[in-house]
Amino acid sequence: MLEWVPRSDAMAGLVPTYVCATVGTTSSNAVDPIGDVAKVAAMFNAWVHVDAAYAGSACICPEFRHHLNGVERVDSISMSPHKWLLTCLDCTCLYVRDAHHLSQSLETNPEYLKNDASMSGDGTDLKDMQVGVGRRFRGLKLWMVMRTYGTANLQEHIRRDVAMAKMFEDLVHADDRFEIVVPRNFALVCFKIKATRIRANDEVNRLLMVNVNKTGKAYLAHTVVGGRLVLRFAVGSSLQEERHILSAWELIRKTVGEMMK
Ligand SMILES: *Cc1c(COP(=O)(O)O)cnc(C)c1O
Repeated sequence: MLEWVPRSDAMAGLVPTYVCATVGTTSSNAVDPIGDVAKVAAMFNAWVHVDAAYAGSACICPEFRHHLNGVERVDSISMSPHKWLLTCLDCTCLYVRDAHHLSQSLETNPEYLKNDASMSGDGTDLKDMQVGVGRRFRGLKLWMVMRTYGTANLQEHIRRDVAMAKMFEDLVHADDRFEIVVPRNFALVCFKIKATRIRANDEVNRLLMVNVNKTGKAYLAHTVVGGRLVLRFAVGSSLQEERHILSAWELIRKTVGEMMK
């Protein structure tokens, strides 16, 4: 499938240059097979990037690491600790296999920025890897988070969130008015009211979302999967506990009950 796209581009005289595989899409947390994407990109000598903005944080746990299988074949990968690694906005990490590609095109070397450190060639000056020259010291925030929590606590944080999402998923499963729409990979549950119950299913699901959100007690977001409106229950707040999941589910059940009266 994927191979067909760059191939037809190449046949049309275009040059395929970049492919992005996503590990944990924003909409439904789908995961692209990185190795297979890299294999196709290699045929066209295209740059392969992995966008793991959200799910990259989960990959600090060995049991989720397999989602990055094939990453050794890509050119770059990014993940945003502000999403799910207890670091406040904004902080995104970009790893590049060969940073020379960046400095080659972005390096600046004016006289007034020359000093002993810059001339020694020992350091990495991040101004040479970005468009702007100045930057905030975002790495410090992430460093402090890593030092404060440590690996074990950060892994525990991820596992707790995933377990709470799994708990919500089980509650949805147990209620035959609802269905899980796509397999849950991380801490996002995509679900909806079953289509068989009521016609105009999208509208009913939208109404459920609006009514739940109006209470101010929980907040559901939505997406469209396969042309159908789907509700998204995301666990990710640092203060979230099981009792919040249970009360949110109670609220959803109660709201649906009222709608079906
Ligand atoms: C959230 C998200 C983004 C945007 O990330 P920012 O760090 O907010 O720029 C990009 N890709 C995916 C898959 C995301 O989930």
